[in-house]
Amino acid sequence: IVENGGGKITSLSPESHKELNRRAIIDRKLLIALNHHNLQVVYQPLFDVASGEVNMYEALVRWEDDELGFITPDELIPIAEENGLIHEIGTFVLEEAAKLATDWDKKGHPVSISVNSSVREFSNSRMRDKIIEILRVTGCPANRLQLEITEKFAFQAEEEQSIVQQMTELQDVGIEFTLDDFGTGYASFRYMQHLPISKIKIDKLFIQSLMTQSKTQQLVEGMIRFGKSMGLYVVAEGVETEGQFELLISMGVDAIQGYYIGIPLTAESITFE
Ligand code: C2E
Ligand code: CA
Ligand code: CA
Ligand code: CA
Repeated sequence: IVENGGGKITSLSPESHKELNRRAIIDRKLLIALNHHNLQVVYQPLFDVASGEVNMYEALVRWEDDELGFITPDELIPIAEENGLIHEIGTFVLEEAAKLATDWDKKGHPVSISVNSSVREFSNSRMRDKIIEILRVTGCPANRLQLEITEKFAFQAEEEQSIVQQMTELQDVGIEFTLDDFGTGYASFRYMQHLPISKIKIDKLFIQSLMTQSKTQQLVEGMIRFGKSMGLYVVAEGVETEGQFELLISMGVDAIQGYYIGIPLTAESITFE
């Protein structure tokens, strides 16, 4: 039962009840799962067109619970942003990624790992310190760890200065930033204007209709041209077919990510030739 805007009491449908209940269970179980190391990180390859090699992996969080089954990041992250555990998830994924990148470096594989971060993580000024500390503790070279930020979440004007400053300092030590989900938010240009970003990732939403809509094709071509003119490295995600792959390469994209290149894998399943 919820109170609606007019102050009247409305009953929820059984589906909404179930959803709310699941949310509440996720909320309650997340801290325990974090403490018991029940979350996992998988890594999806990015193909660099210029070198013809996979030179980067994106870290993606995974959580499977006995009672709840798979909890997707799209379900998990908004809840964690609300209850504040996004900082703990961020730390966990960053540490796992930094350890793996260091291990690869020692084995002679010059491959970097990019980690998704919510802008909300930067709203507390310790984000920069946390990342620098993780690099120090793991011995990870700074250029092997990268960050992706999405424009989904607007930041407050009063936070902007602190966010820009933290990101700039991280960039100074060698950490690169990708603007993720490019083209889907309302703030792409504002983000690009103010944040130290060196890469953009064109959202998979656009790639899905690339082959069937001429308008999308023009839009993607425009985004690639625009990114290049800004001196940015342009990535396309969600690439599932050879047709999409070939077309994007002919349009001048710098890197390709998607099931066509490879699905997300656990660290143990990743092999190098
Ligand atoms: P994203 O950063 O845009 O990540 C790409 C999503 O597309 C991933 O979903 C990935 O598994 C999926 N994907 C990759 N290739 C393909 C493809 O060829 N076709 C299709 N249809 N999908 C593909 P996932 O892992 O479920 O993550 C969803 C979102 O959750 C991510 O979107 C990211 O914004 C967020 N996320 C994931 N891990 C983390 C994390 O550790 N921290 C934070 N803050 N956010 C995360
Ligand atoms: Ca991403
Ligand atoms: Ca995306
Ligand atoms: Ca996304």
